[in-house]
Amino acid sequence: MLILVTNDDGIHSPGLRVLTQALKALGQVVVVAPDRERSAISHALTLHSPLRATEHAADWWAVDGTPTDCVNLGIHGLLKAAPDLVVSGINQGANLGDDLTYSGTVAAAMEATLMGVPAVAVSLAADRFAEADFLFGGRWATKLATMVKTHGLPADTFLNVNVPPGRPHGMKLTRQGKRRYADAVVRNTDPRGRNYYWIGAGELSFHDLEGTDVHAVERGWVSVTPLHLDLTNYAAFERLRHWDAETVHSEADDTNERPR
Ligand code: MN
Repeated sequence: MLILVTNDDGIHSPGLRVLTQALKALGQVVVVAPDRERSAISHALTLHSPLRATEHAADWWAVDGTPTDCVNLGIHGLLKAAPDLVVSGINQGANLGDDLTYSGTVAAAMEATLMGVPAVAVSLAADRFAEADFLFGGRWATKLATMVKTHGLPADTFLNVNVPPGRPHGMKLTRQGKRRYADAVVRNTDPRGRNYYWIGAGELSFHDLEGTDVHAVERGWVSVTPLHLDLTNYAAFERLRHWDAETVHSEADDTNERPR
């Protein structure tokens, strides 16, 4: 089994080391990770400047790009064959609920999915990130990688895995939870007398809903959420169905303005 490992915390992250070490039980592991932390960079792709890749050791590549760049470049350029699996993580901190849209860890798994490679994103939902704290995360990543190898994944689907601190009770299949947004912006003055702002300063909290990723992790379970890239809200079709008929003869059509 050939496994591509990446992350968004950068090549020096202890979570990446633990994950790589754990997955070696399953086959050859090639690391292609950002050369520095790129957390919360989401699915960004570097299209307007070149990328540099440095092989620090055998099968250990640092790229001056995003997690998505790493997966893209890894699959198309650096790996000698297509990987059987991409595993992203282990992230320092949870990737739960609405926060997934910001996550570079999750986006790396998205990119793999777009390229037709099964993928798993793994995050540690804890406050401490010493190497020992990632122990169970590494074990669960290996367990789930084995499940993917044995059973495969549904089409266009990848897994978002969050591991609680300490020894988990087991895993629960979950849906995405809901974030409670406390919109706090810190405004301050810099040493040169100009204002600066710091967003995302609000306290992090979630609605404690049964069946969600947050609910499972808070109670000591490994949360496994199957995700896909189709963001269409199919339930909204019914409510919006009449919009096309109502917009056919709207006032906007009665002006003399011609489309340019
Ligand atoms: Mn991160």
